[in-house]
Amino acid sequence: MGSTRRVPAVLTGLVLLLTATAPATAGESAGSVYEVDTANAAQRTEIAATGVDVLGVRDGTLTFVAGPEQARELRADGFRLQRVGEAPTRVTDAAAPADFPSGDEGYHTYAEVTAELEQATRDHGDITRLSSAGESFEGRPLHVLKISDNAAADEDEPEVLFTCNQHAREHLTTEMCLRIVQRFTDGYGSDATVTGFVDSREIYVIPTVNPDGAEYDISGGQYQGWRKNRQGQGTDVNRNWGHRWGCCGGSSDDSADETFRGTEAFSSLEARAVASFVDSRVVGGAQQITAHIDFHTYSELVLWPYGYTTDDTAEGMSPEQAKRFSDVGTELANSNGYTPQQSSDLYVTDGSINDWMWGEHRILSFTFEMYPADGNGLDGFYPPDEQIGPQTARNDGAVDILLREAGEPG
Ligand SMILES: [Zn+2]
Repeated sequence: MGSTRRVPAVLTGLVLLLTATAPATAGESAGSVYEVDTANAAQRTEIAATGVDVLGVRDGTLTFVAGPEQARELRADGFRLQRVGEAPTRVTDAAAPADFPSGDEGYHTYAEVTAELEQATRDHGDITRLSSAGESFEGRPLHVLKISDNAAADEDEPEVLFTCNQHAREHLTTEMCLRIVQRFTDGYGSDATVTGFVDSREIYVIPTVNPDGAEYDISGGQYQGWRKNRQGQGTDVNRNWGHRWGCCGGSSDDSADETFRGTEAFSSLEARAVASFVDSRVVGGAQQITAHIDFHTYSELVLWPYGYTTDDTAEGMSPEQAKRFSDVGTELANSNGYTPQQSSDLYVTDGSINDWMWGEHRILSFTFEMYPADGNGLDGFYPPDEQIGPQTARNDGAVDILLREAGEPG
């Protein structure tokens, strides 16, 4: 894995973090960054279940942030932890950031996302409709942009949903959703593939499911390495969905942990709002949304349900359905060079968006873990803005495959 060679890069990244503008008010360090080589999903699940902050997984090497107590516990359990860096000290106050830290201004703040969506509706009024799924905990509208011919009408066309930025620091995903918006609006009428899909599908894009967390992550002039929402100590929005919530050791009941599942299913206002939007797409007893991607970073993976069990099939997942996930997931991964696998092949998670989308609505629902494949700890969440163009365009083919599949009988 060349892990010794990676240390200088980690240190370089940390120096960059530490020499950025000083935070307004320094708080506590989140802990240290560790790597551990694991043999199987059961070991990774055991580690994740301690509530550590998993950053990425590659070839069995798990990278995560752990506090001193968690690190001691894991070492006592026999895991060989290699400390590769320190997590940044977080600010305790969070004024609305003017922009991303210096050099990364190509990323969109919440205000800039809002402006982009409003511009798209001004420029392409006939094929767009901007609404909100509800509000975040801090009161930010959770924008939903619909793209379709005759967007004002509810036509009888397969519906497709793209969600981004459930996890605060995964800013590249917001750019991915904006790429989809830009491509399917600006390309309408000139790009035959785009025009075909806009005419035959109803495309919904939610560029930021967790705007409070994203804004906090860039506050104070340096990245905070923040994952959760901003409700109390923060809920991991992607452990708060209501299918087999908290069932299987794939989330934490400790509100201090990075995988805190919330006090009950849908206690996070963001998950609840997006779920209500999806519920609202049941028309005449039939869910209109047939396919979905939830974008995350990082590790370059295509993942599918279930996450709560390592079994390939389970209640509501027949062998034929599991095969379709595997077949389409593999085709998606072939298009972008990611690695395809069932979510629980990494480690068990419960309360995820994919499990709910499939378990409750039979929506063909994937998670993409975007660039980079291997991220040097927290640095992996903050690729330079020069990567936005190539790493989002890299998924154009996959987006088209999903739009095609949305029209196939399930
Ligand atoms: Zn994520």
